[in-house]
Amino acid sequence: MTKIVNHWIGGKTVEGASGTYGPVTDPATGAVTTKVAFATVDEVDAAVAAAKDAYATWGTSSLAKRSTILFKFRALLDANRDAIAELITAEHGKVHSDALGEVARGLEIVELACGITVQLKGELSTEVAGRVDVSSIRQPLGVVAGITPFNFPAMVPMWMFPLAIACGNTFVLKPSEKDPSAAMKLAELLAEAGLPDGVFNIVHGDKVAVDRLLDHPDVKAVSFVGSTPIARYIHTTASANGKRVQALGGAKNHMLVLPDADLDAAADAAVSAAYGSAGERCMAISAVVAVGAIGDELVEKIRERAEKIKIGPGNDPTSEMGPLITAAHRDKVASYVTGAAAEGAEVVLDGSGYTVDGFEDGHWIGISLLDKVPTSAKAYQDEIFGPVLCVLRVDTYDEGVALINGSPFGNGTAIFTRDGGAARRFQLEIEAGMVGVNVPIPVPVGYHSFGGWKDSLFGDHHIYGNDGTHFYTRGKVITTRWPDPADGPSGVDLGFPRNH
Ligand code: NAD
Repeated sequence: MTKIVNHWIGGKTVEGASGTYGPVTDPATGAVTTKVAFATVDEVDAAVAAAKDAYATWGTSSLAKRSTILFKFRALLDANRDAIAELITAEHGKVHSDALGEVARGLEIVELACGITVQLKGELSTEVAGRVDVSSIRQPLGVVAGITPFNFPAMVPMWMFPLAIACGNTFVLKPSEKDPSAAMKLAELLAEAGLPDGVFNIVHGDKVAVDRLLDHPDVKAVSFVGSTPIARYIHTTASANGKRVQALGGAKNHMLVLPDADLDAAADAAVSAAYGSAGERCMAISAVVAVGAIGDELVEKIRERAEKIKIGPGNDPTSEMGPLITAAHRDKVASYVTGAAAEGAEVVLDGSGYTVDGFEDGHWIGISLLDKVPTSAKAYQDEIFGPVLCVLRVDTYDEGVALINGSPFGNGTAIFTRDGGAARRFQLEIEAGMVGVNVPIPVPVGYHSFGGWKDSLFGDHHIYGNDGTHFYTRGKVITTRWPDPADGPSGVDLGFPRNH
């Protein structure tokens, strides 16, 4: 029987009223396993209304209460790692160990939110003038919304809502319609942890639901993670509607390999970062830039390792790489490989047409490795979001940095070298938000913030860490005088206030 995923509004599931549902597919079999309700404008309004009602008390709830609930949620999340990972694998396709990794990285942000008591401590300056004190505090915004992509159906929502609700906001999440079940499990665990009804809500759906969140007057801020064109649209539209916006977009992450690097370590890192999660990670390495004469040796080492990757269903413990999210996406990824030779690239490994015995209708694609890719090739210019690694050749470090800085994307990047001076220059010269030195996927830990530059992020705040707390609160500065009889009588003074 087909499972149905409904909305989560006011602490309970709410059946979709429109009768419109989207299909959710098991990418390993190609079978539609689930139907997900698509919200109407009225249903989004109901979720925002529930969040607004809940804000009336949650916004002024004690920090102790909020952190106690988050600690309980953390324990439940820990106990349910496997169950959440299974939901992710069933709808996204990634292998179970990778899904567990995603849950662990989301849990980090919950742990950060458990310590909100420390992060929301304000500042106080006493005696800035005679008997005048100044304090700075941060207060919640109200109802905030999150719109999330398919590739991390548990982690990316957890980049947002733990800090948002810890800061006193209430939340409406619009998860990806392609894999909605993990978010529903998180909602159930939040309720079990004692989160009051309406503090966390989920509406499923498509552009209709998103557009209503973008123009609803009671939504004060929007966090978005997804592809660059939609991130740009979200930022422009929600900003024009007066909302605070952070919109994280797509990526093309480069790994610069200098001639002095440990080439085995670099090849291990390139293969892990390019093909993990079938390349469907915004921090995947999709372009290796080989400097100097090492190119041939590096490509050979990558090829040897990549050929051994075991592809199969995510719930098979021997699989290292699962299928892609949809058949249409698989076909699009394959088109970059089939078109690469005509654009001047050397096709070292061609994963198009790959299939897995017994799972012929799954969204399979094999490993592809393209060498000597010109920067004019579509395979280099576009975010492919699949298991396709491009290798580009340059003669010098400076040429490599110029190439990377020429990309419109600036999410993550990495340098592999034994030269500390070159690595230090790279950190300062490279135009990207997250930099790895001999670390291929430099996803920041929860207490540092995550975010890219250029077309990889629109808005001023990175996500989670201190930026997250800042994004989900607004500042207020209070100047106080308690007069003393010794001050004598007050008097009118039309001059601008001066401190002396
Ligand atoms: P997507 O942009 O297609 O969808 C993201 C969300 O936007 C979904 O909830 C979707 O329903 C909604 N959406 C899609 N089209 C819309 C439209 N026209 N109007 C309004 N809303 C719309 O992204 P995806 O395919 O789900 O995810 C993959 C993309 O996300 C990749 O580009 C990847 O790089 C990016 N991503 C970025 C980060 C980051 O931190 N920068 C992290 C994860 C994923």
